[in-house]
Amino acid sequence: MGVANALVVGAGIGGLAAAAALGRKGVDVDVVEIREPGSVLGVGINQPGNALRALDALGVLDEVLAAGFPFDGNDYRDRDDERIVLVPSALGSDRVPANCGLSRRDLHDILLRASKAAGATITYGTEVRDVVDDGTGVDVTFSNGEHRRYDLVAAFDGVGSAMRRRVLGTSLVPQYTGSAVWRKRLPRLPEIVRVTMWHGVGVKGGLVPMDDKTMYMLLVTSEQATERPDEADLASRLATRLAQFAGPLARVRDCLRDDPHGIVYSPLVEVNVPLPWHRGRVIVLGDAAHATTPHLTQGAAMAIEDAVVLADEVTRDRGLEESLTALERLRHPRTQLVQETSHKILVQEQSVTTETLPRATDEMRANLAEQTDRLESVLNQPFRATAQH
Ligand SMILES: Cc1cc2nc3c(=O)[nH]c(=O)nc-3n(C[C@H](O)[C@H](O)[C@H](O)COP(=O)(O)OP(=O)(O)OC[C@H]3O[C@@H](n4cnc5c(N)ncnc54)[C@H](O)[C@@H]3O)c2cc1C
Repeated sequence: MGVANALVVGAGIGGLAAAAALGRKGVDVDVVEIREPGSVLGVGINQPGNALRALDALGVLDEVLAAGFPFDGNDYRDRDDERIVLVPSALGSDRVPANCGLSRRDLHDILLRASKAAGATITYGTEVRDVVDDGTGVDVTFSNGEHRRYDLVAAFDGVGSAMRRRVLGTSLVPQYTGSAVWRKRLPRLPEIVRVTMWHGVGVKGGLVPMDDKTMYMLLVTSEQATERPDEADLASRLATRLAQFAGPLARVRDCLRDDPHGIVYSPLVEVNVPLPWHRGRVIVLGDAAHATTPHLTQGAAMAIEDAVVLADEVTRDRGLEESLTALERLRHPRTQLVQETSHKILVQEQSVTTETLPRATDEMRANLAEQTDRLESVLNQPFRATAQH
């Protein structure tokens, strides 16, 4: 009674992972992607141990580790570049490291190859025009004029999801958090061997290794407007926002004069869709259901876990309604934990002033290792219904 064929909407991280996971279970999968091939947005990404475990389930762990920079724990520093605390990670196992930084394009290419190897067909530059679910199947009409009937439609079409609006209604609107992230790819500094974060007043910067040669910089700032600044202004605005930092971030700031290009600016938005995430045979997953702020580097991790659990559950010998409900019960507590914790961190960071910075730093020194251990011990628990880790 499990599904025989499925449509995945969106060929981002979650959609490609879902195509690979479903295809490996013998499901005939089509993927439809609105963008043209090769348009990967973003710079680098950290894949925490739980994401690596999900990537292992897709058969791509070795490729990911070979492409990236595995590391344990995070180094937290103040704006004068003095260490606040080095926090070990409770993620990972004998098989998977605690974390692995890598280029987004590399992760995307690995997942694309995995989905194709699992038999998925990907159609680019196309979107869904109409969806009719008659209870026994879903008739889908595409913008290229084609029609096809599916047992299941899984929408991984990102935070601005058109499928969410279509299936769950228009009331669930992504909320701007008041913060944005600036990112840029750079040559790796030898001392950047793990996520290294610098905490300032209302601003947090970081450097993340992506491989032996490269790293990416991220800077989280409070920004009133969601509009992307003009390309010509990006480097000077970023330099201004880096002004309070000494150490490696100061060196990054100085480099912007000679290399002002390739800055990616992302306003941070969240959406938190209450259960159920499905109507009939159509389900919304990944960022479309639970886009989080990136403070725990867990957004893609949650989308990839969604994908693996989706394939587990919908290929069981039972009705689809039961399978999708079981999936949601497994996924919702984890995605809620990530969203709530990540949001709390953002609010705390945004509220730091010059007066409260010393106290905030003392609190990190005293509490962060224990708080991280508590959270990561939960995230390191098995995320699938049966032990397949
Ligand atoms: C600044 C920043 C840093 C981050 N860092 C990390 C990190 O270090 N680690 C981590 O795990 N996560 C991180 N994340 C989160 C991560 O990027 C997302 O959670 C992840 O990409 C979600 O995957 P997804 O497949 O659900 O959505 P997406 O990756 O956004 O993919 C959605 C896809 O759907 C396509 N699409 C959109 N509309 C349509 C349509 N109508 N029809 C067809 N296709 C459509 C899009 O073109 C896209 O390809 C970060 C996010 C941000 C903003």
